[in-house]
Amino acid sequence: MSALERIRKTFLVARLLAHGVQVFSAALRRAISTRFAALTALTASTPNTPPDPSKVKNIVVVGAAFAGYPAARILAASIPRDGRYRVVVIEPNSHFNFTWVMPRFCVVEGHEHKAFIPYTPAFFSQGPKDMVHWVRDRVTSVERGNVVLGSGAVLAYEYLIIATGSTSANGLPSRPGVESKEEGMELLKAMQARIKAATQIVVAGAGAVGVELVSDAKNQYPEKSITLVHSRPAVMHRFGPGLQKATMDALQALGVDVVLGERVVDRSETGGFIMLESGRKIECDCFKPASGLVANVAPNAITSSGHIRVKPTLEVDDAALPNVFVCGEVADTKDANPNSRTASRQAEVAADNVVLAVQGKKPSYTYKPAWGDGVIKLSLGLQNRLRTRASSLNDKIRYRKEQLTQQASR
Ligand SMILES: Cc1cc2nc3c(=O)[nH]c(=O)nc-3n(C[C@H](O)[C@H](O)[C@H](O)COP(=O)(O)OP(=O)(O)OC[C@H]3O[C@@H](n4cnc5c(N)ncnc54)[C@H](O)[C@@H]3O)c2cc1C
Repeated sequence: MSALERIRKTFLVARLLAHGVQVFSAALRRAISTRFAALTALTASTPNTPPDPSKVKNIVVVGAAFAGYPAARILAASIPRDGRYRVVVIEPNSHFNFTWVMPRFCVVEGHEHKAFIPYTPAFFSQGPKDMVHWVRDRVTSVERGNVVLGSGAVLAYEYLIIATGSTSANGLPSRPGVESKEEGMELLKAMQARIKAATQIVVAGAGAVGVELVSDAKNQYPEKSITLVHSRPAVMHRFGPGLQKATMDALQALGVDVVLGERVVDRSETGGFIMLESGRKIECDCFKPASGLVANVAPNAITSSGHIRVKPTLEVDDAALPNVFVCGEVADTKDANPNSRTASRQAEVAADNVVLAVQGKKPSYTYKPAWGDGVIKLSLGLQNRLRTRASSLNDKIRYRKEQLTQQASR
């Protein structure tokens, strides 16, 4: 590594550390002040007689993944326990879908059960019994003051947090798109079988999901022809040139055929395919933010990309929907690389603002995209993981050479 490279890496690590300290101290400050205020409210307003259950107000959280789940936990731990409010979480999935492992479990057999993590009510045990209600359903629309559920039930809310993330038109390798663990496992097994049976595999889209999928597949099945097609001039186009080059080198070392720079002339609005200038139509994962539930009541709050427009406090930026907060991938927060960290950081801001509102204060915590949240840990095959160290790339290339030598001598 050259001296310049070493200085650059040291600067990068220092910047990351500073970012970590900044995020941690902001979260700690917020957590201390909201929890302290909740305790104060508890001692000041504990009623002698329990409140009438029909008068308990709902704080509704829609979606319980990387954004909604932590938001619900913060609310359960922080809202005054005087019986005036309860938290209602609405989530259609039987299990938390752990997206990070989906590309790998599309290739590697026997681990698919690990992608679905049971929702555990015990996580909410800090609050009194009945403080958190879990409803397994889907919200079909949001009205001012109410949400409408798939079952037809209408639930009133005092405060609402929308954390519905995004959907993928083609399901796997991104998200299974089904609601039970059993169905999700079946889909993963079917994908593993398709990849195992294929001799030529073409994957569209060289973002993290496509890159991880092809490198695992090529690693597992070196004899198959695997092509990765990307409409941009470089793989991992949301990231810097260093990561792009390292990824490209590693893909080539593995033997993946990478086709770049075919211009996209059409993109299906509902997702599912892109049309290239050459006339080639490629199925792909086009993520669509799950913002449709506010389309009727606040159409102007939906941006051209399908996200929900928010203020820095993460309140919906539309007077038609007061007391409604948005966090995670569905929120228009201008993060360069939205991910689980940004979703959870936004959840903290949204939930802490609801806690302030419940205490009669103005929501004042704000969310700002941070450089350090864009960092990614990218796996490039089963043995390799891209770090910033050049030696790890050398390891990868050495590993690939060893593999080729072994094949040649078989
Ligand atoms: C394949 C893949 C790999 C990834 N790997 C990483 C990684 O390694 N590291 C990382 O940081 N990030 C990774 N990400 C990104 C990360 O998964 C997302 O940024 C994160 O899931 C966003 O969280 P979210 O809670 O906003 O939305 P989602 O995870 O999309 O969750 C939304 C939740 O809302 C529910 N929901 C949707 N609509 C409704 C409705 N109408 N009513 C009720 N509930 C509803 C859904 O069932 C779901 O549980 C990956 C993403 C993918 C697709």
